[in-house]
This record gives sequence, C-alpha cells and structure tokens, in this order.
Amino acid sequence: MMKLIMFSVREDEKPAIQKWKEQNGIEITTVSEDLSLETVSMVEGFDGLCIQQRTELKDELIYIQLAEYNIKQISLRTAGYNIVDMNLAQLYGLKITNVPAYSPRSVAELVLTQVMRLIRNFPLIEASMSQGDFRWSGRVAREIHTLTVGIIGAGNIGGATARLFNALGARVIAYDPVEHEKLKELVTYMPTQKELLESADIISLHVPLDKHTINLIDAEALNQMKSGSYLINAARGPVIDSPALIDALESGKIAGAALDTLPNEQYFFNQNLSGKDLPDDHLKILITMDNVLITPHIGFYTTEAVQNMVDSALDSVVSIILNGTNENEVQ
Ligand code: NAD
Repeated sequence: MMKLIMFSVREDEKPAIQKWKEQNGIEITTVSEDLSLETVSMVEGFDGLCIQQRTELKDELIYIQLAEYNIKQISLRTAGYNIVDMNLAQLYGLKITNVPAYSPRSVAELVLTQVMRLIRNFPLIEASMSQGDFRWSGRVAREIHTLTVGIIGAGNIGGATARLFNALGARVIAYDPVEHEKLKELVTYMPTQKELLESADIISLHVPLDKHTINLIDAEALNQMKSGSYLINAARGPVIDSPALIDALESGKIAGAALDTLPNEQYFFNQNLSGKDLPDDHLKILITMDNVLITPHIGFYTTEAVQNMVDSALDSVVSIILNGTNENEVQ
C-alpha cells in the first residue's frame, strides 16, 4: 500500500486528512515539524510527501536525501512555492506541485464581511460603545447597492469578490492587464488603475506580490482615490505602502481600511503575543485606529478551503507517483 508523509500538519487539518484517507485507502503519517535538513530523514520508507511551510528549502542536501529515498515529488498544500529551489528540484528529479486556487470564495467572503462592517462604521461604533458611548452622530452608514466597488487584480479571488458585490447590486469595476471574458458580464474594466482609483468608493486588492506590485498603493495612488473611500487588502502586505496609508487614514482622505495582510506579518500573525510588545511599528499604529479592521491573514481559513488544500495536495502526490504528471505541477 502507498505510504505518504505530511509535514507541518495543524490540528485543524486532521479531520480533512482523515476524510481523504478514508476515501482513498492510502496510509498517511502526519508530523507537526517543517521539512528541513534536521527532519528529512523522516521521509525514508515513504513513497511521497506533502508540505506547507514558510521556512525555505534551499539546502542541496535535502534534495539529495529525498532522491536517495527514491522520492519523485514535493507537493505543497499552498499556492506559493517560492520556498522551493526549482533548479535543485529539477536536478534531483523532484516534481513540484501546488494548490493554485483552493477556495477563492473564502477570501471573497472575508472581503464582503469587512466591507459591510466598514460602511456601517463598526470599528468606530464598537470602539465608542466599549467606552459607554452609544451616540449616532458621525456613524451614518452607506448602502452597498449605491456604491462602486473597484477590484484591482480580477483573477480567481478578485473575480469571486466581484460576483459577490454584483449580486448585492453594487456597481463593480476592475483593473487587470489581463481581461477575463466571463467577468465582462458583471464587471466594467477600466483602462488604467488611475481611472479605477478615481471612480471607486471601495477598492479591493487581489494582485499577486511581485516586483511590479510592491507599494502598488503608495501616496500617489492613495491621492488618486476618492475622498472618503475605503481600501481593502487581502492580497499581500507589501502591496500597500503602510506609512502612506496611515497618513491617508489620519487625514481622512481614506475613510477606512480592512487589512488581512501586512508587511512583516510573519512576526505576529498566527502567534499569541498577548502581554508582549508588538514587533512592528506600523501595526502598533494601525491596530489602534477606529477606522481600521485588521485580521491575521485568515481570508483563506475556512473549513472548505482547508479540505480543498488537503484534497488537492494529496491527489497531486498520488498522481505524480502513479502517472508522473499532474495539472498542478509548477515549473
Ligand atoms: P490569480 O492569479 O487568479 O489573480 C491575480 C490577478 O491579478 C490576475 O488576473 C493578474 O492578471 C492580475 N494582476 C497581476 N498584476 C496586476 C497589476 N499590477 N494590476 C492589476 N492586476 C494585476 O490569483 P488569486 O488566486 O486571485 O490570488 C490573488 C492574491 O491573493 C494571491 O497572489 C495572494 O497574494 C492573495 N491571497 C490571499 C489569501 C488570504 O488568505 N488573504 C489567500 C490566498 C491568496
């Protein structure tokens, strides 16, 4: 019987893994450690492996060891695969697979939730109520069907987000150098990012992080946004220039922001820092603002997405072992 090993397994993944095991009749050993030079010996005797981790696999000895154990693949249960050295993987005959779109709805529904909270002024209302202030003044809400939602990066997640807001009667506009035919029924593409920024009441970012999108929303872009508009980032932290955003929020140029991702988030998100000093100066400011909502990179974190990540990643292991190919193979 085929035997697989899964690294960095969280408790909440175990029911999803159990379900896949029962459906596929394959033996799986789970460990909580990341794959590394120290742990690679655990792979001996297994037919395939599945990982998810932030620590990089840059040491050639890891690849040499895996090849010695007759391993043919590394399956990541994440979309990103930049932790793998693709040259070393190729050199040692390891095929790399990822999970490109585990549940676009998971992130889209977080964006919808946060937009509705922002336009209802919930951060301010909750902060003042916790001080015993129950007044209405300055807290009048907007209705979503009267607003224009601008999506920057209308791919899988941006497209799912566009569909949700379209269903609620909002006008949805998008900027993406690649226009997707199917979305044209419900989205108006803008020719430039500037025109989108100038026209939208709510802007939601869904671009990948690359050299073109670092600080995509800088002081100049924030200045192009409508006064009193809202900014949502569920893409990657460095897409927004944090100091420029703080200035725009303090001046009132931007009415509010919802941030599921922040620069340097590896030092604080998914960690318990209660009683400790926060390790990031921008986080310290943003977290106290009564027009900002911060979530710890939980957009993807739904039962459905976790099951999809596990299913897709384990299906890829089996398919590479049995057939040598898989649609989620990355080059
Ligand atoms: P995708 O590849 O399907 O879509 C990205 C889109 O962005 C593409 O259509 C691309 O053409 C467009 N794009 C690229 N550069 C652009 C630019 N400069 N301006 C405008 N559009 C541009 O990716 P996806 O699955 O929709 O994911 C989008 C991003 O969401 C990911 O790269 C990741 O950073 C983030 N993400 C966040 C979470 C979370 O939990 N918050 C979960 C998964 C993914």
